[in-house]
Amino acid sequence: MTRPVRARINLPALQHNFERVRQYAPQSRIMAVVKAHAYGHGLVNAARALPAADAFGVVSMDEAISLREAGFDRRIVLLEGLYGADETGLAGGYRVDVVIHHAEQIGFIERARSGRPLDVWLKIDTGMHRLGFEPAVVPAVVERLRRIARVADIRFLSHFCCADEVNAGHTLRQHRLFLQTLEGLAGERSLANSAAVLAWPDTHLDWVRPGVMLYGSSPLPHASAADLGLQPVMTLGTRLIAVTQRRRGDPVGYGAAWECPETMPIGIAAIGYGDGYPRHAPCGTPVLVNGRRAALAGRVSMDMIGIDLRGHPEARVGDPVTLWGEGLPVDEVAAAAGTISYELFCGVSSRVVFDYVE
Ligand SMILES: *Cc1c(COP(=O)(O)O)cnc(C)c1O
Repeated sequence: MTRPVRARINLPALQHNFERVRQYAPQSRIMAVVKAHAYGHGLVNAARALPAADAFGVVSMDEAISLREAGFDRRIVLLEGLYGADETGLAGGYRVDVVIHHAEQIGFIERARSGRPLDVWLKIDTGMHRLGFEPAVVPAVVERLRRIARVADIRFLSHFCCADEVNAGHTLRQHRLFLQTLEGLAGERSLANSAAVLAWPDTHLDWVRPGVMLYGSSPLPHASAADLGLQPVMTLGTRLIAVTQRRRGDPVGYGAAWECPETMPIGIAAIGYGDGYPRHAPCGTPVLVNGRRAALAGRVSMDMIGIDLRGHPEARVGDPVTLWGEGLPVDEVAAAAGTISYELFCGVSSRVVFDYVE
C-alpha cells in the first residue's frame, strides 16, 4: 500500500452548493470563483462540476488558459486583471475578460494596437483599500476606456472587506458608495462574495461572485455550513500507521510539548504540514478516527500527527482518519487552528492524491 493521504472531492456536493447559491441569489448571474486551483479542489475538475455557472473567476492567465484548453467556452474573468502588457494579446486570443483596477493596466490595453476587443470590469475601491479606483475618478476612467477601440463592454465590480460581519456599517457604506458612484453609468454590476450572497441580498445586483461557499464552507461566524445548507466537498483523510500504549507522563512529539495525562493509547496518523495540515493546529484539535471524534496530541510534524485515542480502544493500525470534510466541518478545524477554511483548502500540497467522486 502507498502512503494513504488522500483528498476525496465530492463533485455532486459542489453542484449542490452551486444550486444553493442560485437559491440565495435567484435574480443574479453567477461567477463561480475557481482561482487558486478552485480553492485547492482542482481547477478543471471543479469547473466541470459547475455546468450552470455563467462565468468563472480566476487570477492568472494560466488558469484561464487551462479552462479554455479543457474546452470551456464560458466567460472567464481575470480578477486582478493583466499583470503586464504582454498579457493583452493572450487575453484577446483566449477571450478572457480583464478586471482593470489601476491606471497602469489601461496603458497595457491602449498600447496594444491590434487584437480582439476585450470586455473589461472596472474595479472600484469602495472601502477595502486594496485594489480599485477611487470613486471620484470613475467617470473619467470610464471615458478613457470608451475611447479605446480594443475595449468592448464595460462592467463594474467592487469587493467587501467585512461582509462576514454581523455589524452592517462597512457593508452598507460600501454598497451605497458603489451604487452612487455608478449612477448614470451603463454596465452590469457585481459586489457580492459568498458572505454577501448569504447575508446581504440587497447587494446581489447583476452578478454574484461566490467562492468559498461553493466548496462547502461557511464564511459567516454565526452560521455553520450545515445551517446554510452547504455540503462539504473536500474530505482530507489518511490512516493510522501506529497505535501504542503510553504511560502517564510520556511526552509525545517534537518539543515534548504534550504529555500523556494517564496510561493511554496514542495513535500516529500519516499526515502533517508537508501535506498541508496546519502546523499550528493545537493539541485538542478534532480529528475523526473510524468516523468518531478524537483529539490531536503533540505538535504536528511534517509527515505525522499524534492522536489521543482515549475513548477509541478499538483503534488499530490501518484505521481511517479524517482531518476535515464529511463528519468534521473544515470551519471547525480552521477555527481550532487559528485560521480560515480558505487557507486549509489552498494549502493541501501536491503530494496528496486527489480522488474525484462523480
Ligand atoms: C476570491 C474572490 C471572491 C470570492 O470570495 P469568497 O469569499 O470565497 O466567496 C469574490 N470576488 C473577488 C474579487 C475575489 O477575489
